Amino acid sequence: MRVILLSTLLLATAAPAATPWTVQPQSVRAHEDFLAGDALRGRGSATPDEAVAAAYVATQFEGYGLRPAPGMAGYVQTAGVVNDRIASPPTLAIAGRPADGLRLIVGGAADVRGPAVIADSLAALPDNADVVVFTAADVPAFDVWRAVRAKHIGLLIAKDSKSAADWFAQIGGRTSMRRYLAETPPAPRPAFATLPPATIDAIWAGAAVTLSVPVAHDQATTSNAIGYLPGTDPKAGVILLSAHLDHLGQAEGGPIMHGANDDASGTTAVLELARALAAGRPHRRGILFVCYGSEEIGGYGSRYFGAHPPVPLTDIVANIEFEMIGAQDPKLPKGALMMTGFDRSDLGAALQAHGGHVTGDPYPQEKFFERSDNYSLALKGVVAHTLSGWAVVPTYHQPTDTIAHLDIDYMTSAIQSLIAPVRWLADGDFTPRWTGAGKPAE
Ligand SMILES: [Zn+2]
Repeated sequence: MRVILLSTLLLATAAPAATPWTVQPQSVRAHEDFLAGDALRGRGSATPDEAVAAAYVATQFEGYGLRPAPGMAGYVQTAGVVNDRIASPPTLAIAGRPADGLRLIVGGAADVRGPAVIADSLAALPDNADVVVFTAADVPAFDVWRAVRAKHIGLLIAKDSKSAADWFAQIGGRTSMRRYLAETPPAPRPAFATLPPATIDAIWAGAAVTLSVPVAHDQATTSNAIGYLPGTDPKAGVILLSAHLDHLGQAEGGPIMHGANDDASGTTAVLELARALAAGRPHRRGILFVCYGSEEIGGYGSRYFGAHPPVPLTDIVANIEFEMIGAQDPKLPKGALMMTGFDRSDLGAALQAHGGHVTGDPYPQEKFFERSDNYSLALKGVVAHTLSGWAVVPTYHQPTDTIAHLDIDYMTSAIQSLIAPVRWLADGDFTPRWTGAGKPAE
């Protein structure tokens, strides 16, 4: 197999004018040493460790000569994230008497009260009710939830069952509570609970049911690091290069989840591209470099950015997100990065045509296109894709996602291969378009 990158690097040594910038493996390694080192404890989403990671990226941007983005005074954009938490055990009363054996699987409103409406099948579920008691024993708990979750129901109580116990165990044996951007509290949703079958069978239609859930709303802050290279033609649009700087952090008593690949590697790519592109002459289009917080808990950093972009989203001609470029998929041609949703737009082919080592996604069934920060902006119409080295790497979300498992040479060459195509994109007037039904619908 042809080792394209190696030959490019050799050429660079022989004729520096042909390749004005060479990504240094020691710079790649240095970013990783800081971001994925023990001191940052895995950059937990919306934690002070994440804020330190954002401060690092921000000061690097500043040092490379990037400017704050339009309308921003600095290089960090913060957003409030709320974590709902059950502060003390929930209680349920039927006709004024406490009921034992409550298992609250999905939390809804803090307090729900109302007369019991009895439903003995999925077809009998009402669209509107405060409290529904579901008496069928043969419907798996999650199927009941699927049928009820979009309805205007305050609380659904079903019979406890193996399927309910399995579901509860799957979500960690704790009530599923909500997390959201502070500025956009979510719409109400039903609470879902189970009681012992004999208790359910003893509830009569119209019996007063009261659920009390003491909910604490824990406030946290997530941080996006943002740098900007202004373009020479304000009408030409802006290119967005992005990654996420958070990872899974360290649970109490658990190992540090270093996330050297996910996604300190993508953050490193954004940093090294920023360094390279800031070092040359100015480009026609502006280039935004963004490393988001809170990707791992639901893409909150990118959603906030999408709602508060420093330039209008309609000015962003393309977004390239870097996710997990720290190791290469043996299925891919040597040196290449895969682009999620490759056929959804003409961006991938254009990068390819200008020297980017970019190929299609061999795992369309995994829906990776929808599983990274690019998707927040794609839903808003921006042609946005993710480049990845090995999306199904064995260290994915494991404590083994450490610097020792990175392929620094591959990272270096993959980043290097994108400098020329990004420069081409930034200097030209090619504007990528969704192809056919490629544009995702919310
Ligand atoms: Zn991840």
